[in-house]
Amino acid sequence: ESFDAMGLQENLLRGIYAYGFEKPSAIQQRGIVPFCRGLDVIQQAQSGTGKTATFCSGILQQLDYNIVQCQALVLAPTRELAQQIEKVMRALGDYLGVKVHACVGGTSVREDQRILQAGVHVVVGTPGRVFDMLRRQSLRPDYIKMFVLDEADEMLSRGFKDQIYDIFQLLPANVQIGVFSATMPPEALEITRKFMNKPVRILV
Ligand code: AMP
Repeated sequence: ESFDAMGLQENLLRGIYAYGFEKPSAIQQRGIVPFCRGLDVIQQAQSGTGKTATFCSGILQQLDYNIVQCQALVLAPTRELAQQIEKVMRALGDYLGVKVHACVGGTSVREDQRILQAGVHVVVGTPGRVFDMLRRQSLRPDYIKMFVLDEADEMLSRGFKDQIYDIFQLLPANVQIGVFSATMPPEALEITRKFMNKPVRILV
C-alpha cells in the first residue's frame, strides 16, 4: 500500500513526500481514507504510530482553500503537543497553502486574536485557550466541519472534560469527529457515545 493509492490531492502528496514519508504506517493505511470520506473515526493508537499525519492528512484533504475560515479544530492535552501538530500540519500542507495556528495557554491572547482575525483554515490548541477564543468570538465556529481530539485519554485525565464538552456545544451539529486515544477509559467511551455518529473503530 502507498500514499499514492489513497486518492489524495497532488499537492498533499507532494507535502507528504517532501516531509520525508515514503510509505504509510499501519494506522495511516487504515485511518486516512475513512477520515477523508468524512466518517467519524476512533483510532486507538499510541504515540509513535504516525497518528498525527493520519488526521493532518484527513483534514488537509478536505479543507476548502478558497475560504479562509477555520474549518478544522484539533485539541491536544499540552502546549508542546499542540505546537508539534501545528508544525506537522503546516509542513504537510505546505503546497496547499494551508494557514494553521496553535492556540495555547501561556502566549499572548491579543496575538491569537490578531492571527485568527486575519484568517486561518485550521486551529490546533489546548482546550482552555481554544474555549477562551470561542467565548470571545475571536474564533468563529460556523465553518468548522472537522473536530479532532488527540490523546483524548490524556486530556480527560488532565481534567479537560468540561471544557471539551463546552467546546462541543458550540460547534455545528454535523461536525466530523476523530478521536485518537492510546486507551479507552469510560470517560473517553462516553464522549464517543454522546457525540459521534456510527464511528469507524481502528485499533493498531
Ligand atoms: P506520531 O505517532 O504522529 O507522533 O508519529 C511518530 C513519528 O513517526 C514521528 O516522528 C513521525 O514523523 C514519524 N512518522 C509518521 N508517519 C511516518 C511515515 N509514514 N513514514 C516515516 N515516518 C513516519
